[in-house]
Amino acid sequence: MSFSPRLQALLTALRCLPGIGPKSAQRIAFYLLEKDRDGASTLAVALRSALDGVGLCERCRMFAEEQLCPICADAKRDSTTVCVVETPADVVAIEESGGFHGLYFVLMGRLSPLDGVGPDQLGVELLRRELEAGHIRELILATSATVEGEATAAYLAGVAAQRDVRATRIAHGVPMGGELEYVDGSTLSLAIAARTELADI
Ligand code: ZN
Repeated sequence: MSFSPRLQALLTALRCLPGIGPKSAQRIAFYLLEKDRDGASTLAVALRSALDGVGLCERCRMFAEEQLCPICADAKRDSTTVCVVETPADVVAIEESGGFHGLYFVLMGRLSPLDGVGPDQLGVELLRRELEAGHIRELILATSATVEGEATAAYLAGVAAQRDVRATRIAHGVPMGGELEYVDGSTLSLAIAARTELADI
């Protein structure tokens, strides 16, 4: 089945979305054109506006509409502690936990030489400059618990060590409310290896 040129262009464009194949693209396009043209118009305007107005924070690489993102611009945040994460979604998750009041650095990925992702793609030079500025005392490496995430953390720990900045790694282990028998073996062995002393009450 061949579609008209504009419709075909829309179907092709929709396929840039994650998890959207030809069938899903067709379903979305037909829905918008047939049932919700106002919604489609709002979506088009919002997308154009976000593309024009949302860039990356020049300090932490989180999405930002000004030079600094709201977190970096907040003078109440602890600028001596920086948490390094892979994605903006990780920042949102940690912010929602409410347990961290420092700043972030968003890599927008993790080291993956086979995919052509090296330190340059992750903004490591910008992080180096922040470390050299001298106000950071601790770098919390909150990359994922994957082979590439661990390699990224190890690399960044080396970068921090060169500037005499303390590097720490987030703990991996048993989730809150987790029953030990359902926790996978590698997580459980990490949890045992990273055990901590119980403080006296
Ligand atoms: Zn920022």
